Amino acid sequence: MGMAFTDALVDHKDVRVALVDRRHGVGGHWLDAYPFVRLHQASAFYGVASTLLGGGRLQQHGPEAGLQERANQPEICAYYARIADRMVESGKVEFFPSSEYVGDRAVVSRISGQRFQVPESCRIVDASYLSPDIPASTPPPFEVADGARVIPVNELPRLAEPPSQYVIVGSGKTATDAVVWLLARGVDPGAICWVRPRDPWMINRAMLQPDPARFFGMVADTMASAAAATSVEDLFLRLEEAGVALRIDRSFPATMAKGPTLAVWELEQLRTIENVVRLGHIRKVEPGRITLTEGRPRSRATRWWCTARRPA
Ligand SMILES: Cc1cc2nc3c(=O)[nH]c(=O)nc-3n(C[C@H](O)[C@H](O)[C@H](O)COP(=O)(O)OP(=O)(O)OC[C@H]3O[C@@H](n4cnc5c(N)ncnc54)[C@H](O)[C@@H]3O)c2cc1C
Repeated sequence: MGMAFTDALVDHKDVRVALVDRRHGVGGHWLDAYPFVRLHQASAFYGVASTLLGGGRLQQHGPEAGLQERANQPEICAYYARIADRMVESGKVEFFPSSEYVGDRAVVSRISGQRFQVPESCRIVDASYLSPDIPASTPPPFEVADGARVIPVNELPRLAEPPSQYVIVGSGKTATDAVVWLLARGVDPGAICWVRPRDPWMINRAMLQPDPARFFGMVADTMASAAAATSVEDLFLRLEEAGVALRIDRSFPATMAKGPTLAVWELEQLRTIENVVRLGHIRKVEPGRITLTEGRPRSRATRWWCTARRPA
């Protein structure tokens, strides 16, 4: 967000900008993203206004042939690094990496400890308030007892020994990426247990393409569904009928819609996971036991137990 804002600002106004980030470079959370992540929608929809990300090309191979390319993590980071170089070369922008904005107009370097005071004449813009928490840099939001193995998604590619079972926690894009990645590496769907506190609505990637004919078709279907809908639930059911919205399990209500896109081939993969636990959020993980906030386990086929406990 900070990069997009600065890019537009320096292209339209004669200003000087100090860009501050506690990370070691530009690119925000992408610097710490798991290595197999890709943009979930077309590259052309992402990035800063001055510079197209990617070449606006169609994928030629694989299950998404015919859809627009999606940048992977190294491509996104390289893109933002190039944009930063362009900004700095313009003479209008200075970048302060590894620097923390600590409030009261003060910035402190995390490396040297040097402290800078932002003058009163300078406008401070907070471009961090939508910043996502990611597993790589945030501890798990539940208790982990000694001996229990809980890893962020980033560590999956570094596993040296296959565990007997995987428990995937969460139902957003990171979780769906992790499931699809494990299946692509030959993990048996029966060896994956999926803890889904809520089921998500996702957008059919084939519909959300920069091609105007497809894009406006999707917008028209969305408008028509919204005009006819009697409730939010009804709207999403209509979008599903129109092929715009997808949910993993059509027999179960989806109650979350944060807008990730999903391809139909990924949907088919996700549907092979039958061991789904819908008992709210995890409270505690111990060796051989996971405690969730509600309900009882539907199946004890897995070698761990869910204990019914409501949050205090
Ligand atoms: C795995 C993943 C995939 C995603 N994929 C997509 C996608 O395909 N398409 C899409 O549109 N969105 C996607 N998103 C959503 C994502 O929120 C946006 O893409 C966007 O990158 C968020 O940008 P941001 O600037 O808000 O946050 P960030 O990228 O997190 O940047 C905020 C920066 O602010 C810095 N910061 C915060 N507080 C301070 C402070 N006090 N001092 C100094 N620095 C500070 C942080 O270090 C961070 O680098 C994805 C998110 C995740 C986690």
